[in-house]
Amino acid sequence: MLELFWLLLPVAAASGWYAARRSAAREARRGSEYTPVYFKGVNYLLNEQPDKAIDVFIKLLEVDGETVETHLALGNLFRRRGEVDRAIKLHQNLIARQTLSNEQRALALLELGRDYMRAGLFDRAESLYQELTEMDLYSKEALTGLKTLYQQEREWDRCLAVAEQLEKKSGQSQRQEIAHYYCELAEQALGDGDEARATEMLERAEQANERCVRAAMLQARMCVARGECDEAIETYKKAQDKAPEYLSEILPALRECYLRQGKKAELRAYLEDLYDRHKGRAVMLALSEAIHDQDGEREAARFITGHLKRHPDLKALAHLIDLKLKKDDDPEKNSTLMVLNDLISRYLEGQPDYQCQRCGFSATKLHWQCPGCKAWGTVKPVEGVPGQQQPMQDRMNPW
Ligand SMILES: [Zn+2]
Repeated sequence: MLELFWLLLPVAAASGWYAARRSAAREARRGSEYTPVYFKGVNYLLNEQPDKAIDVFIKLLEVDGETVETHLALGNLFRRRGEVDRAIKLHQNLIARQTLSNEQRALALLELGRDYMRAGLFDRAESLYQELTEMDLYSKEALTGLKTLYQQEREWDRCLAVAEQLEKKSGQSQRQEIAHYYCELAEQALGDGDEARATEMLERAEQANERCVRAAMLQARMCVARGECDEAIETYKKAQDKAPEYLSEILPALRECYLRQGKKAELRAYLEDLYDRHKGRAVMLALSEAIHDQDGEREAARFITGHLKRHPDLKALAHLIDLKLKKDDDPEKNSTLMVLNDLISRYLEGQPDYQCQRCGFSATKLHWQCPGCKAWGTVKPVEGVPGQQQPMQDRMNPW
């Protein structure tokens, strides 16, 4: 309540100033009628009745060319505070005025569209944004609004059309989003069992953005489903080249393809080559498993220890302790390791597996669109010790 009081004070002051200015001109014929109304508003404020105070002040602020900005600022304030009904009423009132210029009316329409979005009235928001686009006023903002709306509704075909328009209008690349819209359509087609359409959509995703790792991963998954392991391996490798930061997503599936064909030696050689280029946790763990599989626990433990000396990483340490626990029969040594393991596990429990590099949103699974900031391709697997800088080659942005 106190917060609102302070927020309303400038409005009260503006109303007072405005009423005073207007009344100077009118005083001769109408007298000082503003004064009791204005003080009534202040009285409501002081009595902590901000709802009534707002109505009084808004009535005082007659809409004309000079007060449109004050109305718009007030409308924004209401929306930001979650008082959407009030913002809608104010913006509707503004639009109904004949005195507004085309530009002012368009701005009020845009704000009303944002109110409707906030209130979940998507149909109304959509028609306002479309009207603005046709009028070619605030069309960049309106198209951005439409894009947000269609994304929320998961209408990917419409997202594509709007993104193309937005790219032309703003000159800003929408390639990353467009590739993800095609991937969404491909996933829908796969869900419907329409493999031909899925393939076509993934091709278009790659045409839109040749570095789209998601499209390559989906193509590889389709190869696996068809039993084409060699092709799947090649496609997964292509995905890895595009975006090594997604290795933790790619490697388990790639490993599965090699093992299905009994190509253990090839897998080991590939992982060793990869480890020379990427020292991240995902490659280290996959390689340690391959070493374990071929040369036994002792060699795997030696490899992990060597890695840990150069790249401190609690998850890798937990993996090493696991290996030791499996191997050692000494109960005394084991109980110490178990305490250590328990401590590390508890510490790691609160650490995110995925994080948005744009807004910091933490997640337990991979989201192609960040649930926090709604950006595409910004949520990535967390590598290494939480908070530790990742090696440069692992932080490269694929876009
Ligand atoms: Zn985000």
